[in-house]
Amino acid sequence: MICINTGNHMDVMVNIEQASQDELLQAQRQLEQEYAKLAALNLSLDLTRGKPGPEQVALSDALDGILGGNYIDADGVDTRNYGGLQGLREARELFAPVLGADPENLMIGGNSSLSLMYAVVECALNIGLCGSAWSSQLDKPGAIKFICPVPGYDRHFAICEHLGITMLPVAMTDSGPDMDAVEHLLATEPGIRGMWCVPRFSNPDGVVYSEQTVQRIARLGQIAHDSFLVLWDNAYAVHSFDDDAAELPSISAYCDALKTQDQVVQFGSTSKVTFAGAGVAFLASGERTRTNLSKHLGYSSIGPDKVNQLRHVRLLRDAEGLGAHMRKHAALIAPRFACLQRELAAGLGGSGMGHWTEPGGGYFVSFDSLPGLAKEIVELAATIGVKLTPAGATWPYGKDPENSNIRLAPTFATLPELEAAVQAFVCCVKLASIRQRLARA
Ligand code: PLP
Repeated sequence: MICINTGNHMDVMVNIEQASQDELLQAQRQLEQEYAKLAALNLSLDLTRGKPGPEQVALSDALDGILGGNYIDADGVDTRNYGGLQGLREARELFAPVLGADPENLMIGGNSSLSLMYAVVECALNIGLCGSAWSSQLDKPGAIKFICPVPGYDRHFAICEHLGITMLPVAMTDSGPDMDAVEHLLATEPGIRGMWCVPRFSNPDGVVYSEQTVQRIARLGQIAHDSFLVLWDNAYAVHSFDDDAAELPSISAYCDALKTQDQVVQFGSTSKVTFAGAGVAFLASGERTRTNLSKHLGYSSIGPDKVNQLRHVRLLRDAEGLGAHMRKHAALIAPRFACLQRELAAGLGGSGMGHWTEPGGGYFVSFDSLPGLAKEIVELAATIGVKLTPAGATWPYGKDPENSNIRLAPTFATLPELEAAVQAFVCCVKLASIRQRLARA
């Protein structure tokens, strides 16, 4: 572990609403000194990467060689050979509980759920997945629209932008997307064919959708166009920090009751369970959607990597094995989140210069500065060697109308690196906030 002691951390505690002009000027002078000292340290720290740290991926090193030459699965399938587009039965049984779905409704893909999401959207757009191709229904560029809860995951937004799908932002609440706004949009705005959801420990704000939200989303298939799809990206389904974290109700049961199974496609992967670059991705949906998707995928693949599926079955075994494995991740991640929370609270608590989320799992903390400051804070941090996710990344088209949201990702850095990075971040937030206030005085 590299030890980083910036030795610069000063307690400049002012409340931006209550401080006098003189107090603000004095605080600004102190912060500028602190900032100059940080700059002189030539830091090289990074809070952008929502990826598992080296100790986390090492938890699954036993994958290598675990088959010991036995490549035959419980059904007698030789996993080394072609075929099996739906995935091994044993692997579907292992991963179905992660999504709260029936193993029969699962398909296993390659190593990336994002690739599966792209394939689903592309197929629905150009070929037809649940009904006719969206592009055949509305052929003006940009006429196909997706509802995008914000702040959200930039790669979801990138898929839409790349495929020419117009994005309609809807605010997140503590219980998930603002469902009144979602239903209103569906009733009033033509061309909506999809909605992104990260239902447990959402990226970036760590929200777990409530039972009522899940139920309302399962019902959207009844009120939207027949070919409407909910892209239910459950990337952090089993990624809680402890056993007290909020559970996500299974959407499958509601979809079964409402007959909307084909209009919800659930995704998951082991990217943040085993190896981020060599895991297993899977999806669940109704029979019609899966059959059409299988046909589509059949043109580009004769079958996924079943050897890797079998490795995962042997390593994780069942829900209990997976749970035990995830507790080892939590033991590595939870202290990093605690450090981030501690430093933010120590530096910014009660300052009126920002607020942030305290998730019970997942990979991110969402920070909101005072309006208009996110870009400046990210730039101030970059100048002293602390990389932050670009401001705006959590919004469609990279445009955060308030210019306030910044996604913080604490998992990859070591604890000393993280502590130093957050202290530097706090300094940048304070400096930007006080400069703004003084400029307006
Ligand atoms: N979905 C969300 C919400 C994510 O945050 C990420 C990675 O950060 C992914 C999907 C990527 O998943 P995969 O590695 O399975 O492609």
